[in-house]
Amino acid sequence: MALMTGVIRRLDETVVNRIAAGEVIQRPANAIKEMLENCLDAKSSSIQVTLKEGGLKLIQIQDNGSGIRKEDMDIVCERFTTSKLKTFEDLSTISTYGFRGEALASISHVAHVTITTKTADAKCAYRASYSDGKLKAPPKPCAGNQGTQITVEDLFYNVTTRRKALKSPSEEYAKIVEVVSRYAIHNSGVSFSVKKQGETVADVRTLSNATTVDNIRSIFGNAVSRELIEVGCEDAKLSFKMKGYISNANYSVKRCIFLLFINGRLVESSALRKSIETVYAAYLPKNTHPFLYLSLEIAPHNVDVNVHPTKHEVHFLHEDSVIEHVQQHIESKLLGANSSRMYFTQTLLPGSSMSSNEIVKPAPSTSSSHGTSDRVYAHQLVRTDFREQKLDAFLQPIHKSKEVTTNNVVQEDSKGPPDNGSVHQDSEMADLSDSDISAAMKDFDDDLETKRRTLQGPKETIGSSTDHVPPRKRQRTDSEVEMVEADSRKNMTAASTPKRRIINLSSIISLREESVDCAHKGLQEMLINHSFVGCVSPRWALAQYQTKLYLLNTTKLSEELFYQIFIYDFGNFGILRLSEPAPIYDLAMLALESPESGWTEDDGPKEGLAEYIVQFLKKKSELMKDYFSLEVDEEGNLTGLPLVIDNYVPPLEGLPMFILRLATEVNWDDEKECFKSFSKECAMFYSIRKQYILEENASPVQQDADGGSNQTSWKWKVEHILYKAFRTHLLPPKHFTEDGSILQLANLSDLYKVFERC
Ligand code: ADP
Ligand code: MG
Repeated sequence: MALMTGVIRRLDETVVNRIAAGEVIQRPANAIKEMLENCLDAKSSSIQVTLKEGGLKLIQIQDNGSGIRKEDMDIVCERFTTSKLKTFEDLSTISTYGFRGEALASISHVAHVTITTKTADAKCAYRASYSDGKLKAPPKPCAGNQGTQITVEDLFYNVTTRRKALKSPSEEYAKIVEVVSRYAIHNSGVSFSVKKQGETVADVRTLSNATTVDNIRSIFGNAVSRELIEVGCEDAKLSFKMKGYISNANYSVKRCIFLLFINGRLVESSALRKSIETVYAAYLPKNTHPFLYLSLEIAPHNVDVNVHPTKHEVHFLHEDSVIEHVQQHIESKLLGANSSRMYFTQTLLPGSSMSSNEIVKPAPSTSSSHGTSDRVYAHQLVRTDFREQKLDAFLQPIHKSKEVTTNNVVQEDSKGPPDNGSVHQDSEMADLSDSDISAAMKDFDDDLETKRRTLQGPKETIGSSTDHVPPRKRQRTDSEVEMVEADSRKNMTAASTPKRRIINLSSIISLREESVDCAHKGLQEMLINHSFVGCVSPRWALAQYQTKLYLLNTTKLSEELFYQIFIYDFGNFGILRLSEPAPIYDLAMLALESPESGWTEDDGPKEGLAEYIVQFLKKKSELMKDYFSLEVDEEGNLTGLPLVIDNYVPPLEGLPMFILRLATEVNWDDEKECFKSFSKECAMFYSIRKQYILEENASPVQQDADGGSNQTSWKWKVEHILYKAFRTHLLPPKHFTEDGSILQLANLSDLYKVFERC
């Protein structure tokens, strides 16, 4: 006997509609988004949103748009009625937001909807209420301005489950504020406001004459708005255009703020978001993110907006290509906008609250030791202009006459790379360190030097080949800007926006993190703000910070600096081209002959070793060139070195040992260890080393026609290249406080105590 099987009954139509409506309208913010788009479709220039209980009790949206004609009022809330679409084919050319005629209908199925509207030519406004898509009673004439006011009351009054699933009114309110603000940013020229009913002050308010950036400022604050870069690109083949504003690397937030509009509609594209975030990952501190506002116009037939009723996550044709294009544009803009060291600084200096730490805690200073008084005592006075009275001024008054150039420029305190024609006499340290020189000269292997000279020619034949790779962006000084411009006249392609390669190797990322992790904030603050006092010797220099005087080991600091740059700029170096290829074989032989190499007979004949080194480094040449811009040619000659900081050529006397150590000291087996030890070796070679410098000082090769040797003198380099870079590029590791690399010599307030007793 057959059991009565379940009868499949048609669901009650109103229930179906209610369920369907719940799909479209999931929370007040969805409803508001739909209604905002209707207002914008109706060409409104002012849109006011008023809410009660986060929109759950009441949503009221008033616009000044075209209004709805009286004869259309009875059907606007019916499903699939729209004034914007007539055939399915129209879907592909739709350029207005709405196209389904679904929004108002849906809302009317789950809330009480009242529309008051007036078109330009109607004599008066009309008001009508709707329920389940239908007019409750014929529209009644009433007073009103042109435009439309729609009120939505008791959202989900008839869908208890949805109602219960909703978060608190305050969360709903926050979500609404977010949606409206985003539309406000995207629609500059239209004024928006959001407020709670009964309040007089709006929580979001933009003005119709405000620009996009004004709106970003008023909604997200000054901190973002002043770090914005305008972006914009298009591609006819892919038929899309993009414009917007993105934050530069000086700005970062815990969570990515991404305002994405495609054809005017606020959407999500996780693919696009991810690809842009990878660009920023190289520049922003770990776990922080950018602000992005992008507006894409994509040929309507390429956008698939019909994915889901909420039309949130969007897909489009040629998505990968478009995303790649946008990603590249953003990357180039990020680099291009950065005319200075900002990016590097940012990457290196995560977080900005750096004023904690023992070593450079402000001296018992301003007011703290004197109650609340604001008075500053003499022993607390700090020299603030680092150009004033450096050490050299005291050491070197005799050479005054020589310092007057033909332009009558006195270069007592050269503040930057000196201009052409200006003279900076640099012999002053000779007096100070005569004995140092002679001592070092004994160590100095004359024979080696002669060979080096014949091998490579004089130093100045090696210069940065700017035509090959654009100079490092970050370290651009004024003179370099000129250089780039001059270059661009010559060679447009070379000077067009240099692209930074994004390095995603986990080995490099983790090495970068290590530097960040062991940075000492106090020292960093000191380095950033120090006043350079003077060089004591190539190895040691004095710097002042607040009321304290420090002795810094320039060799150690520069070694660390270069190491960090090798890791941070990994894969992105310019090239210092050697004017003549230097045979690695000869370099290796030179190194093996120097006692420093520690070669003994047990190691086998030098010639064999040298040949091995040539072959070995030739094998590694691809990697070395690609990642470190270290070039070795087919014949086994060294032809190029990484350009690490503009204007800085490593002391080439160290080249033979450097070559030897690349073959012997670098761990070539493990990726991370390899990059680390390779960078360490490079850093050692690039750092300021005593013997090399003294040799440079003793040899007259640097003098140019004017007798000026400023840019190449070690003191100039130390002060204007290295210490300048320490301010911005160096994350001083904690061990610098312990190993004597940085020593505090005196504290002004303590000195005062000493003198008071006298
Ligand atoms: P769609 O926007 O997809 O056409 P909606 O349900 O959102 O569907 O709106 C239905 C119709 O109501 C619209 O086509 C439009 O003609 C009219 N309408 C809705 N809101 C407004 C408004 N604020 N101003 C003028 N017309 C409106
Ligand atoms: Mg609509």
